[in-house]
Amino acid sequence: MTSVPAPAVLVFLDSQHPQGRIVDATAPQLMATDLGATRGDGVFESLLAVDGKPRKVPAHLKRLASSAAMLDLSIPAPQAWEAAISTAIDVFRDAKPDEDEIVVKLLVTRGVEGAAEPTAWVQASPSPALGRQQRKSGIDVVMLDRGYDSDLADRAPWLLLGAKTLSYAVNMAALRYAHTKGADDVIFTSADGRVLEGPTSTVLLAHQETSDDGTVTKRLITPQLDAGILPGTSQGALFVAAKAAGWELGYGPLVPEDLLDADAVWLISSIRLIAPVNHIDGQRIGKDPAVAAALTAELNELFAGIS
Ligand code: PLP
Repeated sequence: MTSVPAPAVLVFLDSQHPQGRIVDATAPQLMATDLGATRGDGVFESLLAVDGKPRKVPAHLKRLASSAAMLDLSIPAPQAWEAAISTAIDVFRDAKPDEDEIVVKLLVTRGVEGAAEPTAWVQASPSPALGRQQRKSGIDVVMLDRGYDSDLADRAPWLLLGAKTLSYAVNMAALRYAHTKGADDVIFTSADGRVLEGPTSTVLLAHQETSDDGTVTKRLITPQLDAGILPGTSQGALFVAAKAAGWELGYGPLVPEDLLDADAVWLISSIRLIAPVNHIDGQRIGKDPAVAAALTAELNELFAGIS
């Protein structure tokens, strides 16, 4: 057998093992007839554990449940996930005590063809170096057409827009396409010209204004959540923290010009965290780099305080 790079820890959710069943990540574990493998029929979550503590677990479990409900998929209870997450983190930290960040994935499929049970497991692996670097360096982005209107989600629930399904092949293809254009990432737009989201992230923009009496107003804006996008757990948590810190909040609709006019734009997600956007389609973002850097620093600090 060929060797497997960067071994992960795998813990299957199993009613016989309340803390989860630890398996060998370098050996085959999934049936070839699992509907997750044959049809991408399932849902997942990715969350970050920092210094052994998983972040935003209730928000991720809530979104996992709502994604599963959209697929009519019954999944294990939150307690079973919590136990498997903690087992996976403990095993990972025993093997690699020096890793301060761990990517924890929760995966559940409709199960093996013909069987009534879903297949569910937790994977713990190192956090990718590139994402950590992009938090600091920022990223260049291309806008790509997703090909449908921003009001399609309500009209066509079978398209599962807004569910985090295992069918991420399109999202990954968009990223590869961006790389061929020399960009790091993507912001999708709708057929009716609205800003949607990244393939694995939520779009944020900010405006800062100073009034005549010197009062500084900061406004943080994200596309409207009913535009067929995934509601980001990071965006949700950051908005709560930013509001408490005095920021004004806004929800689209946004058009590409709003991004180009902003004082700063970011792509935010649970693993890479806050990645400043330097260029969109080759155009520099933000009039004043010092303002953009200060806004980024403030949001990073607010986001670091979230558990
Ligand atoms: N939008 C999409 C399509 C995603 O895949 C993700 C995360 O992977 C996000 C947004 C950001 O979500 P979160 O902040 O919960 O990681």
